[in-house]
Amino acid sequence: MKIYNTMSKQKEEFTPLEEGKVKMYVCGPTVYNFIHIGNARPMIVFDTVRRYFEYKGYDVNFVSNFTDVDDKIIKKANEEGVTADEISKRYIAECKKDMEGMNIEPATKNPLATEEIPGMIEMIKTLIEKGFAYEKNGTVYYRTRKFADYGKLSHKNLDDLQSGGRSLLVTGEDEKEDPLDFVLWKPKKEGEPAWPSPWGEGRPGWHIECSEMSKKYLGEQIDIHAGGEDLIFPHHENEIAQSEAANGKPFARYWMHNGFLNIDNRKMSKSLGNFFTVREISEKYDLQVLRFFMLSAHYRSPLNFSAELMESAKSGLERIVTAAENLKYLSEKAQTDKMTEDEKAKAEKAQEFTDSFERAMDDDFNTADAVSAVFELVKYINTTADENSSKEYLERLSDRLHKLTDVLGIIVDREKEILDEDIEALIQERQAARKEKNFARADQIRDELLARGIILEDTREGVKWKRA
Ligand code: AMP
Ligand code: ZN
Repeated sequence: MKIYNTMSKQKEEFTPLEEGKVKMYVCGPTVYNFIHIGNARPMIVFDTVRRYFEYKGYDVNFVSNFTDVDDKIIKKANEEGVTADEISKRYIAECKKDMEGMNIEPATKNPLATEEIPGMIEMIKTLIEKGFAYEKNGTVYYRTRKFADYGKLSHKNLDDLQSGGRSLLVTGEDEKEDPLDFVLWKPKKEGEPAWPSPWGEGRPGWHIECSEMSKKYLGEQIDIHAGGEDLIFPHHENEIAQSEAANGKPFARYWMHNGFLNIDNRKMSKSLGNFFTVREISEKYDLQVLRFFMLSAHYRSPLNFSAELMESAKSGLERIVTAAENLKYLSEKAQTDKMTEDEKAKAEKAQEFTDSFERAMDDDFNTADAVSAVFELVKYINTTADENSSKEYLERLSDRLHKLTDVLGIIVDREKEILDEDIEALIQERQAARKEKNFARADQIRDELLARGIILEDTREGVKWKRA
């Protein structure tokens, strides 16, 4: 199995640190709003990577954080006149709903930065003791030049960084020894959340969060560290500097980065305002379509979001779902149980689609080619399965198809369409639960309906609903 490693800039054979196990850390979102579909790309891509490792029999420890303390969260909290904690809790919950809709397997652990502050303080202390960090007026800085390997991931050279470095100076940071030094701990400002530390009240810098959470939940050395390509520099470069200096060991073996999701061939981002949230997309499409759209491209290539590509993902997915449904239908009606000799040979031949699927995935998770292999299998199903087929043959094909779509995280078993009266009944039950202040049940009903494509809207005139 080969993985493209950003560190070596080439595909390398994957060898786990510990046999049969994969320790994987994916940088998660900063939670101050609904996630946009650009943020969904790493979620879908690395969930698929995880699923493929699991398919291959690995036990995957998958850790992905939520950054729940950050300038943007504080800003949003101030705008709404609520606490930062309220904002982050709200959007973590919303993000988890979106992830469920995209069929992202829950992580082994989703650590929250605010719950890991003591560990971060310990790591910063170690860095100071080892001479890799220093404190000035309540701020702790990392002494970048002291880490000889700085720049090894992003392939940047310190002197080039230095010449562009003047612009790195931010007001209040002019006491730094060197413009390249970055913040590990910043002092409290009025109206901001803060935690006690040996350097006074304050909060951690963003980079130290991931170094600490990765260490705590996966250990000092991990197999894979991943995120979007914008994180290569400075975030991941700084994580390496912190973790390797503090632990005295190489940090991650493989660094994986997804390409950007663009719109009109420009990067989709909150600051440019040219984004769609996952929630908006879910009102128009089943989120399975979004997932399938993302996997139709190689994860390292830029991907342009467009209505045409979404429509083509929708019809592609439909083709797979129809084949799966057809197999189910035929197998319920099948006249014979056991395969004939001819069917045995045909079932055997279908192995070639699984082989090409695996070849594609083994080659740095080439999901675009893996999807083509699934389409080939669908074509084979459509031409070889009919009302004369035996139950055993149909089930073999169905198993084969499900194994592959499971790796892609694509659900091919369509739930029966939910009837209007069932929706109304669930809405009544939700209202009753709310009256009893059983908000957990009320939310659960809302989420169940959302998962089945029903969107509830609480309006002054009561609850309204629509189909996505
Ligand atoms: P953020 O909340 O900005 O830290 O982003 C969370 C994750 O989404 C990171 O891994 C980013 O690299 C990734 N990301 C943000 N925007 C995009 C985009 N347009 N395309 C692909 N990945 C993105
Ligand atoms: Zn991170």
